[in-house]
Amino acid sequence: MPDAMDAVQADVQARIDDALARHRLSVPARREGLSHCEVLDCGEEIEDARRRLGARRCTDCQREADIRAGQFAPGRGR
Ligand SMILES: [Zn+2]
Repeated sequence: MPDAMDAVQADVQARIDDALARHRLSVPARREGLSHCEVLDCGEEIEDARRRLGARRCTDCQREADIRAGQFAPGRGR
């Protein structure tokens, strides 16, 4: 019964498409950050405001990462 199978398949696919479309609408265009700092030995909670901006580290770790990036970035601060 290939026809019946196709119908089921089409129905399932339609449901998946529908679910995906709804899921996409519920997800903000910009990816959210993490609920907790990505630094393994930190795990500090990240505030909602920063998380919505896509933050993946707590303020302390982000500052440290910025400092390190500044130190290793060629041509910076010279
Ligand atoms: Zn941290």
